[in-house]
Amino acid sequence: RAKADGRGCWRFFEPEMDARMQARRALETDLRHAVAAGEFELFYQPIVDIRTRRTGGLEALLGWRHTGRGLVPPDAFIPLAEETGLIVPIGDWVLMRACAEAATWPGAPKVVVNLSSVQFTHRGLVDAVAAALERSGLDPARLELEITETVMLQETEATLATLRRLKGLGVRIAMDDFGTGYSSLSYLQRFPFDKVKIDRGFTRELETSPRSIAIVLAVIALCTDLGMTTTAEGVETETQFAVLSREGCAEAQGYLFSRPRPAGEIPALLARPAGDAAAPPA
Ligand code: C2E
Ligand code: MG
Ligand code: MG
Ligand code: MG
Repeated sequence: RAKADGRGCWRFFEPEMDARMQARRALETDLRHAVAAGEFELFYQPIVDIRTRRTGGLEALLGWRHTGRGLVPPDAFIPLAEETGLIVPIGDWVLMRACAEAATWPGAPKVVVNLSSVQFTHRGLVDAVAAALERSGLDPARLELEITETVMLQETEATLATLRRLKGLGVRIAMDDFGTGYSSLSYLQRFPFDKVKIDRGFTRELETSPRSIAIVLAVIALCTDLGMTTTAEGVETETQFAVLSREGCAEAQGYLFSRPRPAGEIPALLARPAGDAAAPPA
C-alpha cells in the first residue's frame, strides 16, 4: 500500500497504478465468491474428425457470468486466479462439472478439460480428477486433459510422476498450443502425450505461408511416428481445412465448425443424425 512516509515517498505510486491495483483487488474479491455464487459456466467447442467432420470431442471453455461485468472471458481472469491460487477450487469445479455434463451426452464423445500449470503442481490434482470421474460415472477414456508447455518447464520428475498417475486413471493427455512459448521437441519424446494440438498461430498462416505449412507437416509426421495424434486449433476457413486434411492431420477445431456453445445446446448438437458440427462439404 502506498503511504506517505516522512520523506513524501508517495509519488512513487502513480495514480493510475493505484487505480489498476484497486481494480485488481476488486476482481480478486469477486473471483473469491464466484465459485460459491455459481457464477461460472462451461461452454463447449466441438472437435471434429477431419475425415468425417463428425464431432468426436468437445473442449470445455470456462466463462464467468458476473452481474456487473457481464460474461468475462477466461483470459481476463485465469491469470489472476493462478496468482492467487483460486485456480485450484475453480479447476476442481471445472473437472466436476465437465465430467457430469459429458456423462449425459448422447453418442459418448470425449470431453476435453484445460489444466493450468498451477493446478498441475498442486498435490490434490490426481485425486480431484479421480473424484470427478467417480462422481459422474464417466468412462475415464472419455476424459482428455490439456496441459501447456509451461507445465513442462517445471521439475521434470514430479511432472512425469503426475502425468503417469493421471494416465493410470485411464484418461488421455494432450499438449495444448504446441509451437508457442517454450516449445521443445524433447518434450514430445520425454512426456507421454496422446495428442498434440497445433497452435492457432500456425493454422492462421496456412493459407499464406509455405513455411507454416512446412512446420505443420513436420509436426504431424513427427507426432504420427511417435504414436500421437494431432489436432489443429483455430480452423476458420475451408482452405485451412483442406491443407490440414491433405497433410494428414486427424482432428480440427475452430469457428469453421462451431464457436464454443452453451452446455444446454450440446445434447441437441450431438443428437443430430450425422453428429455433425457443421454442414457437410459442398
Ligand atoms: P485454449 O485451450 O487454447 O482454447 C482455445 C481458445 O481459442 C478458446 O478461447 C476458443 O474460444 C478460441 N477459439 C477456438 N476456435 C477459434 C477460432 O477458430 N478462431 C479464434 N480466433 N479463436 C478460436 P477462450 O474460450 O477465450 O479460452 C482462452 C484460453 O483460456 C484457453 O485457450 C485456455 O488456455 C484457457 N482456459 C479456458 N477454459 C479454461 C479452464 O477451464 N481452465 C483453465 N486452466 N484454462 C482455461
Ligand atoms: Mg485448450
Ligand atoms: Mg489451445
Ligand atoms: Mg490457445
